[in-house]
Amino acid sequence: MKILITGGAGFIGSHLCDFLLEKGHEVICMDNLITGNMDNIAHLFGRKEFSFVQHDVTNYIYVAGDLDYILHFASPASPKDYLMFPIQTLKVGALGTHKALGLARAKGARFFLASTSECYGDPLVHPQTEDYWGNVNPIGLRGVYDEAKRFAEATTMAYHRYHGIDTRIIRIFNTYGPRMRKADGRAIPNFITQALSGQALTVFGDGSQTRSICYVSDLVDGIYRLMNSDVDTPVNIGNLEEMTILKLAQKIIEITGSQSEIAFKSLPEDDPKVRRPDISKARKLLGWEPSVNADEGLRRTVRYFKEQL
Ligand code: UDP
Repeated sequence: MKILITGGAGFIGSHLCDFLLEKGHEVICMDNLITGNMDNIAHLFGRKEFSFVQHDVTNYIYVAGDLDYILHFASPASPKDYLMFPIQTLKVGALGTHKALGLARAKGARFFLASTSECYGDPLVHPQTEDYWGNVNPIGLRGVYDEAKRFAEATTMAYHRYHGIDTRIIRIFNTYGPRMRKADGRAIPNFITQALSGQALTVFGDGSQTRSICYVSDLVDGIYRLMNSDVDTPVNIGNLEEMTILKLAQKIIEITGSQSEIAFKSLPEDDPKVRRPDISKARKLLGWEPSVNADEGLRRTVRYFKEQL
């Protein structure tokens, strides 16, 4: 297949470029590089099945020739990023999704939307099933991301129903691994960077809020299964290993063998108190199961960060 990946130079996008090239597909990687990074894809230049286009997909997207699949992964994705780029975050979820769907329609290509567990907001249902509509504050600081992704899902379903586009929607829960930026502001890169440099780990609030962390290779496996399935309604992909943020910080101190302490900082606005996916749908329809546990995934990620520092 000839596949366009928007956000292809980002953390998840670049792992997808690698994986799809290995599967023998042709990959066009598109990124405006506001949060993506050329270092993530540098090793792919020179491969004839790979090309890179620097472009902001909130503007008209031009791709020559046929396209079989469009994977729309472009977006700032950490709370720090979408606070720094609120308008771009709204635009890429709304206008960028619209442009990418228009391209899918013009090319007769399938369309795959990277959506998020943030669609569930600060959830009142736990664990989160795909039929839960969520609890989102539209005007809060996280609203720019949550609402853009909810709009993106709505647009995708409208193109599916009205124009008959073949679409997929994945709701990605907290994912981590090599190629996360050390300054991206999320808990795992922050804690690892802090632990490796002897600084205190900044736990927000009392650290009792929970997340369930999924290693990137498991996510990519889920994406590929969903791409090749005929499931056109949203599917959660995430790990079931739920832990408090305090426990995560302690685990990272242990794995790095760091002497760092923990410093409690104020909790950001609208920070979800709990998060864990119900993955029954992915198990049943995709035969998907996460296979890398938190200890193993964090060890691999720490190794990557050590090489970067
Ligand atoms: N967090 C923290 N310290 C940090 C960064 C994040 O305690 O240095 C907390 C954050 O408040 C949230 C959780 O860790 O409760 C996960 O945050 P992250 O930014 O990784 O992603 P989120 O799941 O909130 O989108």
